[in-house]
Amino acid sequence: MPFTLPSLPYAANALEPSIDAMTMEIHHGRHHKAYVDNLNKALESQAALASKPINQLLREIKDVPENIRQAVINNGGGHANHAMFWEIMGPGAGGNPSGPLADDIKTTFGDFAAFQAQIKQAGVGRFGSGWAWLVLAGGKLQILSTANQDSPLMVGQVPIMGVDVWEHAYYLKYQNKRPDYIDAWWKVVNWNTVGKRYSEAKAGKI
Ligand code: MN
Repeated sequence: MPFTLPSLPYAANALEPSIDAMTMEIHHGRHHKAYVDNLNKALESQAALASKPINQLLREIKDVPENIRQAVINNGGGHANHAMFWEIMGPGAGGNPSGPLADDIKTTFGDFAAFQAQIKQAGVGRFGSGWAWLVLAGGKLQILSTANQDSPLMVGQVPIMGVDVWEHAYYLKYQNKRPDYIDAWWKVVNWNTVGKRYSEAKAGKI
C-alpha cells in the first residue's frame, strides 16, 4: 500500500500529563491508522494519484475524480494532519518559539500571548470537529480553523502547526472541556519542529 502509518516519534505516554497515553494509543493506532487504510482503499484503482506525496495529493485535490474526492479529502486530510500533529509535539517541550518564527508571530499578532489566545479562540470556536491552524497564506502568517479533516493545503495555504480539536483528541481526559485541553496542549508543543516547518514553508518546501 502506498500510504503508511508513521510511527509515533516518542512513547505513547511521553506527553503526559497534558495528553494521556490511552488517548495517544487510540488516536494514533486506530484513528490515524483508519485514515491511512481508507485513503489507500479510496485510491486502490488510482495508481498515479496514489503515488503522489500526500501534501501534493491534497494541493491538487481538483485532479481527484469526483466520485472519490470526498473520501480523499477526509482520509488524505486525516493522514496529513495527524502526521504533522505527532511531529510538532514532544516530551519536555512547550515554552516559547524563537528565531524568525518568533519574530514573525510578534510582528503579525502583537505578542506570543495574543497569538496563543487567537489559536485558542479558533479551536474553541470551531463547532463540532476540526482543527485550529497557524498557516502561511500568501507568504503571511494567519490563524484559522477548518472543519473535519479539511487540510489548508487544499486552498493553497501551508500548515505550520495545528491543534486537533476533535473530541477523540481529548475526551478521555478532558471530556467537554476543550479550552482546558488547548491550554495544556501548549506544554507539549515542540517549537524546534514548528520553527523548522516555518522555515520550510517560507522556502516552499512543505
Ligand atoms: Mn485526530
